[in-house]
Amino acid sequence: MSELNPWLNIAPDSDFSIHNLPFGIFSLPNQRPRVGVAIGEFIIDLPAASQAGVFAGLNIPPVVLEQPQLNDLMLLGKTLSLQIRHRLQQQLCDATSALKVAAGVLVSRNAANMHMPVQVGDYTDFYSSIEHATNVGKMFRDPENALLPNWKHIPVGYHGRASSIIPSGEPIRRPKGQTLPKGQSKPVFQASQRLDFELEMAFIIGKESKLGQPISTQEANEYIFGMVLFNDWSARDIQKWEYVPLGPFLGKNFASSISPWVVMLEALEPFKVAGPIQDPPVLPYLEYQGDSNYDIDLEVGIAPEGKEETLVSKSNFKYMYWNMQQQLAHHTVNGCNVRVGDMLASGTISGHTPDSYGSMLELSWSGSKPLTLADGSARSFIENGDTVKMRGFSQRAGKRVGFGELSTKVLPSHP
Ligand code: MN
Repeated sequence: MSELNPWLNIAPDSDFSIHNLPFGIFSLPNQRPRVGVAIGEFIIDLPAASQAGVFAGLNIPPVVLEQPQLNDLMLLGKTLSLQIRHRLQQQLCDATSALKVAAGVLVSRNAANMHMPVQVGDYTDFYSSIEHATNVGKMFRDPENALLPNWKHIPVGYHGRASSIIPSGEPIRRPKGQTLPKGQSKPVFQASQRLDFELEMAFIIGKESKLGQPISTQEANEYIFGMVLFNDWSARDIQKWEYVPLGPFLGKNFASSISPWVVMLEALEPFKVAGPIQDPPVLPYLEYQGDSNYDIDLEVGIAPEGKEETLVSKSNFKYMYWNMQQQLAHHTVNGCNVRVGDMLASGTISGHTPDSYGSMLELSWSGSKPLTLADGSARSFIENGDTVKMRGFSQRAGKRVGFGELSTKVLPSHP
């Protein structure tokens, strides 16, 4: 692509550069939610842009831009969304364009409310970071044999709950549930004492597949519309007591938070890198071609009530052992179909070093090594009043593509 020189002033460290142009659902006071695209400090109001003639010649039914979710737009095919993205790039570099000339098309991001970008159909959570799976295996099971025998052969995952996926800014309540106190033989019912975040990324399905028809690793990217940051809230004490033999349930399904802007996979293309070597070799249906991991810097901060934020983790999406193509190929190899709006999350993204672990469970090593925050307080897990913030961006050769911020405050349990 040739150099893009927008007429709009965009800070060099903005996540929302002209190379990004993520889709989201926003509203202004007294207006209905609608489709927008983020650029710098602004949102391009797509229904207004369409009225101004920005998309002349593209076949976009105006009504899909007025929906309170991206599903209808995605159903029209990724090609159309890429055409919108390309048209906006062109017009952002043309000072005589309809986009520049028309009034009311650019809206301040500060003035807007962000909503769930998609109506999530089914949600699946993987467990694809070898560092995370090893750390959890050591703590929950056996320090000597932390990885179970299937882990390097199967992108392990489970079916989660779509109803409790919420956008950034919406607070959560500390869940209550059954836990087994240490050294006791009978469970108690109480508020979770080990509320945790999980630093993850998720991809959103933008193309339907047919029941009975697997998606190959080569075809996978056609089905992936884009990505968001994903905080898979977890109650470790509830999880530990309930997870045998069928896996995660109430320790996981009370909430997962996502960032509001969906970054298209194509915007992340310049940041592809090789994944880790997979040894032993994977079965043929999981083999893939070319660089399929993405270099996305990730970080997590905790801000106690009324206090400044402390950065507690710096990780990177490139550490994933299993990539998204393999996850989708595995998910559908038995004929399971996917639908537009489905969300597939990566699993906690931990790196090699203790400061790159993607959960408090690992950062505090199950509470044995509490972290000290900037205000002097100690944290083994998340306290009431804490706000957990996640950020992610890619940067290379002057191009920056980011996800903005995912922020969630924790409130006390429901009385
Ligand atoms: Mn998870």
